[in-house]
Amino acid sequence: MECTKCKKRLDISKFSYKNKEKNILYFHCDKCRDKIKSQKNKKNIEIDNYNLVKKMNFVICKCGKEYIAFRDYHIQRHENSKKHIKYISNNK
Ligand SMILES: [Zn+2]
Ligand SMILES: [Zn+2]
Repeated sequence: MECTKCKKRLDISKFSYKNKEKNILYFHCDKCRDKIKSQKNKKNIEIDNYNLVKKMNFVICKCGKEYIAFRDYHIQRHENSKKHIKYISNNK
């Protein structure tokens, strides 16, 4: 059976059953499926890391604005925003 991913002709034992009762095999060999899976995991880990960074750098400013700041300029940018300046000038 030919893998639709790597285009190699492989023994049927290199493929897993998608549905054993219906005798349906995956079109990708196990090796390719592993590769795809690990790529997906990598992506998920990257997303998780990003969410973690986001959570750890979540800022709730006294002006009421909630924002993400993982760089100093994010804070500076917020401190120069209309909402923040308005709050500061109203609360002097
Ligand atoms: Zn393959
Ligand atoms: Zn603010």
